[in-house]
Amino acid sequence: MDEVDCVVVGAGVVGLAVARAFALAGRDVLVLEAAEGIGTETSSRNSEVIHAGIYYPKGSLMARFCVAGKRELYAYCAERGVPHRNCGKLIVATNEAEAGQLAAIQARAAANGVGDLRLVSAAEARAMEPALACTAALASPSTGIIDSHAYMLSLQGDAENAGAVFAFHAPVLSGRLLPEGGAELSVGGAEPMELRCALLVNAAGLHAPALAASLENMPAALVPPTYYAKGNYFTLSGRSPFTHLIYPVPVPGGLGTHLTLDLGGQAKFGPDVEWVDHIDYKVNPARGESFYAAIRRYWPGLPDASLLPGYSGIRPKIVGPGQGAQDFVVQGPREHGMPGLVNLFGIESPGLTASLALADYVVAAA
Ligand SMILES: Cc1cc2nc3c(=O)[nH]c(=O)nc-3n(C[C@H](O)[C@H](O)[C@H](O)COP(=O)(O)OP(=O)(O)OC[C@H]3O[C@@H](n4cnc5c(N)ncnc54)[C@H](O)[C@@H]3O)c2cc1C
Repeated sequence: MDEVDCVVVGAGVVGLAVARAFALAGRDVLVLEAAEGIGTETSSRNSEVIHAGIYYPKGSLMARFCVAGKRELYAYCAERGVPHRNCGKLIVATNEAEAGQLAAIQARAAANGVGDLRLVSAAEARAMEPALACTAALASPSTGIIDSHAYMLSLQGDAENAGAVFAFHAPVLSGRLLPEGGAELSVGGAEPMELRCALLVNAAGLHAPALAASLENMPAALVPPTYYAKGNYFTLSGRSPFTHLIYPVPVPGGLGTHLTLDLGGQAKFGPDVEWVDHIDYKVNPARGESFYAAIRRYWPGLPDASLLPGYSGIRPKIVGPGQGAQDFVVQGPREHGMPGLVNLFGIESPGLTASLALADYVVAAA
């Protein structure tokens, strides 16, 4: 049986950031990835937004890692030349009731350490974005967009330069937690192997609970259930009239039908929320119909028939519909009592923004 110091399962943005952090800390790292390359699941099926950290409950891991991760991410992108743009976002109110909520959103953001939100009048908002209809807005200057694949390639490069090794087509099938710490793993794929590691990090995204459940000696009570909340995007055919990201005031249970941009200026709307039982990324064109009315509340000029089915991603939920919001779960020895194991559960948005801060925390928690 081969012996490795530290195994990270999953080469999404979180597994990559964690592998990089351990490698830079001097550990010998092996990344086991079931797919043919990095970032083929949720990490390439998201909005690519660098979130400011506005809505998360104060003190939550999401709030802490989003705000800290955002700062680290902007600095990292600038240093490494990772394409990104600090384009800012507007949260727009379209009636007086919504306008009344903006101050509360601003206060919540400030409690999270995001003190730069600014209330702007309808006239000022329209000066910034002439196509916009609103009664007032909040400007978030620290929100931005990033080329997530370039970022992941850079993380992989850093990890490899610090000695980490990547194995693709290498699904972890099962394993056994060892009483002295670490695990024995059974790896399938083209070159099946058995190996032993002193530290196992489960960064398997949508499959993290299933992977944890497949580990002998893992207490079943500590493995959360798996739910999938698909998010569908519709892309705008033609040019976007907006240069900022545009978000309506949040609706109960979601962020509303918002507009985000990619670095090429292409606009997309979504993601919506569709609870599904299995992983299927096809976008049902009929879901786009409800987008028109929602978007026209803040962009009356949206042309008919201008939305095309785009792509989708699936949120790795550990609570089901109607059960409220769930924080990131980072389960290390302090939580489960077993040395040499860190499970990452429910790493949905803002996992991309939070990745560098989350990785620092995992290194400290291991
Ligand atoms: C619709 C949507 C929009 C989002 N928008 C944003 C956004 O704008 N900004 C933001 O900050 N965050 C956003 N997020 C969140 C962000 O995309 C995720 O938090 C992040 O990509 C999670 O990365 P990950 O590495 O944990 O998971 P993944 O990217 O899913 O990677 C997990 C990897 O593990 C591998 N794997 C699984 N099981 C095994 C196994 N047994 N053996 C080996 N390998 C295995 C998989 O093949 C996969 O490559 C969004 C998420 C969704 C769903």
